Amino acid sequence: MALRPDNSSDLLIDGKLVPGSRGAFDIVNPATEAVIGQAADAGPDDLDAAIEAARRAFDTTDWSRDHTFRATCLRQLRDALLAHADEFKALATEEIGAPSFLTGGPQFQGPAEDLGYFADLAENYGWTKDLGEAKPMGIPNVREVRYEGAGVVGAITPWNFPHQINFAKIGPALAAGCTVVLKPAPDTPWAAALVGKVIAEETDFPPGVVNIVTSSDHALGEQLVRDPRVDIISFTGSTATGRKVMAAASETLTKVFLELGGKSAFIVLDDADLAGACSMAAFSVVTHAGQGCAITTRLLVPRAKLDEAIAATRDAMAGLRADDPSKPGTICGPLISAVQRDRVEGYIKLAVDEGGTIECGGGRPAGKDKGFFVEPTLISGLDNSARVAQEEIFGPVLVIIAHDGDDDAIRIANDSPYGLSGMVYGSDEDRINHVVNSVRTGTMGVNGGIWYAADVPFGGYKASGIGREMGVAGFEEYLESKAVARPA
Ligand code: NAD
Repeated sequence: MALRPDNSSDLLIDGKLVPGSRGAFDIVNPATEAVIGQAADAGPDDLDAAIEAARRAFDTTDWSRDHTFRATCLRQLRDALLAHADEFKALATEEIGAPSFLTGGPQFQGPAEDLGYFADLAENYGWTKDLGEAKPMGIPNVREVRYEGAGVVGAITPWNFPHQINFAKIGPALAAGCTVVLKPAPDTPWAAALVGKVIAEETDFPPGVVNIVTSSDHALGEQLVRDPRVDIISFTGSTATGRKVMAAASETLTKVFLELGGKSAFIVLDDADLAGACSMAAFSVVTHAGQGCAITTRLLVPRAKLDEAIAATRDAMAGLRADDPSKPGTICGPLISAVQRDRVEGYIKLAVDEGGTIECGGGRPAGKDKGFFVEPTLISGLDNSARVAQEEIFGPVLVIIAHDGDDDAIRIANDSPYGLSGMVYGSDEDRINHVVNSVRTGTMGVNGGIWYAADVPFGGYKASGIGREMGVAGFEEYLESKAVARPA
């Protein structure tokens, strides 16, 4: 089966692939600006039908109770996706602008493989826990807690790592026994819709268990949040939209799980390998053109070594030019759209207006008149109060800031509305641990350590979110617990 024989995609509603009631909308390759095809454009009635199907599948079938069947379906999906890996990877480069080195990892291959981890959880999780006997009001009782899928999940996802985020939601939600309505971002509909095609044509998922509704209209996200038939909203996106989601969900008291923005710090201690650290910081911030919520975008270096660090980072960035993501070796591809490029360029201009110095980059790459590219950019001369140090830019832009010792670096790292991730480079284990324990973020790397994996809970402190995705903690977000007691 070819994933998109006519360069178009359908909605998946109640087990059927159907067109959108509003027709179709264009998908643009961000590296070339060419229209590469169309996705079905859903309207409110399509979403309504998808929610109804998910509700019915949860309420009237055995899906939530048959742990073994769920594991089987998830493994079927993993295997079917991996059988199409070459097509999905090529599409991720075309649709998302993902460099090919990432499509073999978090931009497709890794998250597809990780569905197996969630299948194992469906099978092996302790669905009941014996609490033994107690004597409430003097009467002996035996008690247990039973865990159940929480119901219908509305999953709303962004465009930057769409496969990773879509699978990190539908994998654990389905493993937990929930049914799902997935509404992906309008910029990357195929990453979701073609998974829907695989589900419909190559797996045994019952009708209504997974529904995928692509739309050019952000308002469908809000409709999903406000619908009282939905039990959980699992949202990944910007902090501004996350606030709206939480406010809207308060009307129906729907549980919200939020993965939001970040402005993570890369802390270099004075006993670190400075050149190695700066080179890693440059590599991180240009990866996928900086369009990652957990990417470190503030480089904090010892004041005495500031000039040396600027030179080392500039040199590293010079070898990481923004380029065609399908070229082997490209690390920094395009931004997803003209809107995002304008936003990033606006921040670079703001840095100059605020008195900053552009050490390298700052514009569009020479010789590229098509594609939403921005050069890897290093900004110096500002402190942590500057807007470019406080706000999420979501581009290949690094702000370098001097610190006056370990505690000052920790203070600067924590002087942020966000708390998603971070990195520390140093040689002394005690000092490294002091930093790791003091920075208020959901993940930390040490000397280049990579924490990302299916079994690692990922999420943020403060304005970076509520809850955890992936790992057992991410799976448990989709469970309800029921305490049961009977006389002993
Ligand atoms: P966005 O907030 O604009 O959109 C995210 C999703 O929400 C899209 O599907 C969109 O259609 C939908 N949406 C828009 N308005 C809505 C509303 N009022 N109610 C419900 N849904 C609505 O984000 P984006 O621009 O697509 O993605 C970039 C942002 O995502 C960045 O801020 C980034 O940090 C964040 N992000 C966070 C994580 C994480 O795990 N913490 C991961 C990736 C991206």
